[in-house]
Parts: sequence; structure tokens; C-alpha cells
Amino acid sequence: MTRHSPFENALSQLGKAIKHLNLTKFQVTRLSNPEKIITVNFPVKLDNGEEKIFHGFRVQFNSARGPYKGGIRYHPQVDMEEVKALAFWMAIKCAVCDIPMGGGKGGVEVNPKELSEGELERLSRNYVRAIAADIGPYVDVPAPDVNTTPKIMKWMVEEYINIKKQESRIKNNKKEIDKLKATFTGKPVDFGGSLGRTEATGRGGSYVLQALLKQLKLKGRYGKELTVAVQGFGNVGYYVAKFLHDAGMRIVALSDSKGAILVKDIKKDGFNPELVLKCKKEKGELSGCYCVGSVCDLRNGKTISNKELLELPVDVLVPAALENQITVKNAEKIKAKVILEMANGPTSPEADEILHKKGISVVPDVLANSGGVTVSYFEWKQNLEGESWSEDKVNLMLKNKMEKAFLVVWDEAKKQKIDMRTAAFIVAVRKILEKRG
Ligand code: NAD
Repeated sequence: MTRHSPFENALSQLGKAIKHLNLTKFQVTRLSNPEKIITVNFPVKLDNGEEKIFHGFRVQFNSARGPYKGGIRYHPQVDMEEVKALAFWMAIKCAVCDIPMGGGKGGVEVNPKELSEGELERLSRNYVRAIAADIGPYVDVPAPDVNTTPKIMKWMVEEYINIKKQESRIKNNKKEIDKLKATFTGKPVDFGGSLGRTEATGRGGSYVLQALLKQLKLKGRYGKELTVAVQGFGNVGYYVAKFLHDAGMRIVALSDSKGAILVKDIKKDGFNPELVLKCKKEKGELSGCYCVGSVCDLRNGKTISNKELLELPVDVLVPAALENQITVKNAEKIKAKVILEMANGPTSPEADEILHKKGISVVPDVLANSGGVTVSYFEWKQNLEGESWSEDKVNLMLKNKMEKAFLVVWDEAKKQKIDMRTAAFIVAVRKILEKRG
């Protein structure tokens, strides 16, 4: 069995959609290739006084609908194929949720957990120096992704503004500087960030899932409450678990890179994600955090492997960690009725076929996790227009966008009798081509 790269998977997803569209060879080539690839090698001074070269990327995939938009990932295994795939998915995602932006993505090959705070700051600032000529509010607008945070975005914006000041491109007034803050989204709220951005990806996913459940009228396996297993307990995994818990679903399993936890009795118990997070912060990992009631009780629940979590008999499975988690190896063993893809690229195209045949509804990443980029777009707009919207306004606008995007994809899938991923790609490709044939 060959394992395909995320970019090969992305192209195969596009290929499936193209079969339903009447495109020219030129259009297909244009859609399948990044417009620009930037590779950088930049030095960072370590705490021991030595200098080390780090490798970074920025892929600008498609700008037909607006400035490139996409996160920056810090991970030891980041590579060009992955960043290309993520940038391509961003182009599709921005079109699915109907925001006027294109697709981009960046990454640095680094394990941030091995760096001190000072080293992380110098790495972030130097990466921005390396790519500064190719970003800007109307050119390319990065954001956080795996292992990058609002604090890192603040360092990056500060560095970008310093560069522009040195180049004398801006006057030193607040209005001009605030506009430049639109170069990055996912910033701290007291530094030009939008209220609601941190929670947006998880919140958006919960809106999409609830919109789907209205259509499916899904009955819980063990009674009224639907059961949910979430793989990945970072920003996205935590918030989606919290919002689904708040919406009355039972979170029965959670995991992080070190392992997974399962409630004692899947038929009646559920975790409170807020308590689990508190416990994880205290212990540094999830193992041992069985916070079922109002306190963390070490006698309840058990530790399972990440592999077991994916195969649990639950109603909803939420991959919220990394790519290629559901593949031909385990797709047959998936028992969930719905998969809400909060991570980017968690399902391989071969697994997709198997899940479709099994009648499992897969809400594709380009729809399920598009709440993050939607509120990033709101943040960008607020910075450029000098506004600060209330959290209620942001959440309401997000809800409207997510529900509308879901219905467009759902209708296309029903009309053509296809899976929701292919439907989302068809909708997105049409929108991209409307702007640039
Ligand atoms: P994060 O760094 O905050 O969290 C990632 C989590 O996944 C961590 O808890 C980590 O321990 C866990 N993890 C890593 N490997 C794992 C494994 N093999 N099994 C189980 N857990 C594992 O990152 P995030 O921002 O939450 O992003 C998660 C996913 O969501 C990524 O695919 C990212 O591209 C996607 N995404 C994020 C956003 C966003 O706004 N942050 C938006 C859209 C999509």
C-alpha cells in the first residue's frame, strides 16, 4: 500500500470534482498548481550563543478571489508537499465559506517544544523578515495553525511593522499601523485581534454539525444524547468538544499526541471538556484526566490508544489533530455515523470511498473547519476599517456564514448524489473560476 502525500490527496479530491465540471486543460492546470512557492533558510540565535539555520516555506496557491490567506505551522515534519496541500485547501475553503480571499499556507521545520520562549520569538521574527517582501494586507495574510498562537502572531506583526517603518513605507500614526496589523490574523484581542477568533474554528464546526444533524435526524446509539470522540485536544479539538458538550452531546473520548482517554461507561458517561483542559494544564498531558463530574476523578475512565479512539462505537468522530489519520488501514473499522473533519486532510481519498460506501457522512475539512478563516476575515476587515466588533456580532455573522455554506454544499451533494467533499470542491471551483476563468 502506498501512502500518498497530502498534496497528492488534495489533487485526487480535485480530480473527483472535476469529473462533474466541464473544464479546459488550462483551467485544470491553473487550479492544480501554486502561483508562487517561497522557500527560506534563515538564521536564529540560540540561547547558547550559537546560530542555527531553520527552513521555512510559504506557498501562495491561488489569489483569484482575493489576497492569499492561510496559517503558519511549526512542526518538525513540515514539508513542501504538506504546505502545498494546506495552501490548496485554503483556496477551496475560502471559496466554500464565501469570503473574498485566496489560499496560502506557511510552515517552519521546527519542534517549538525544544525552544525557549526567547528562541521561539527570535525564530518567529526572523521567519517574518525572510518572507516580508511577499506578505501584506492586500497580498498575503498569514494566521496561526498547529503550534502557532496569538502571541506568536503579535511578534510577527510587530516585526512586520518594524520592517515597514525602516523602509519608511508608513507614517508613524495609529491609523496606518492598525491597517498594517491586517497583515496577520489570529492576533491577541488587545493587539488588533477579533473577539471570537480563538474559539471560531471549533464554534464554526459545531454550527456545521448541528446544521447537518437537522437534515439527518440522527438518533443516538445509546439514547437521546449523541456521543462524540475527539482526536486532538489543542485549540480546535478543545473548542469543538466544548461547544458540542454545551449543545447537549456527550464527549466520551479525547486525545492528544501522548494518548487518549475514554469514559468508564460509553453508554452513559461524558467528559466535561473545560475540566479536562484544566487538568491537562496542571499535568501537562491528558492521561489521567478523567474529569467526568465536577471534579477530576482518577478512578473513572481509562487510557486508550489514539488508534482505538478512531474506531470507537460513537455517533460522531471528530479528527482535530493532523493529516492522514483515517486511511485504508482503518476506514473499514470506523463505526461513527458522522465524521466532522476539524483537522485539515485527516481522511485519505481511498478511505473516503470506503466511508462513503459504509454510509458514513463525512463533513469535509474545507467546510467543517472554515469557521477559523471566516473570523480571520472578519478580523482583517475590522483592522482595515478601523472597527472592533462585539463578540455577539462576530458569532452571529459566523453562524450565518457556516449555515449558508453548509446548505449550499448539502444541496449540491443531494442534487448530484455525491459525497459532501466532492460537492464542496465543485461549489468552490465554480466560485474560483467565476473570478478568474
Ligand atoms: P494545536 O497545535 O492547538 O493542537 C493540535 C492537537 O493535536 C494537540 O493537542 C496535539 O497534542 C494533538 N495531536 C498531535 N498529534 C496527534 C496524534 N497523532 N493523535 C492525537 N492527537 C494528536 O493545533 P490546532 O490549531 O488545534 O489545529 C488542529 C488541526 O486543525 C490542524 O489540522 C489544523 O490545520 C486544523 N485547523 C486549525 C485551525 C485553527 O484555527 N487553529 C483552523 C482550521 C483548521
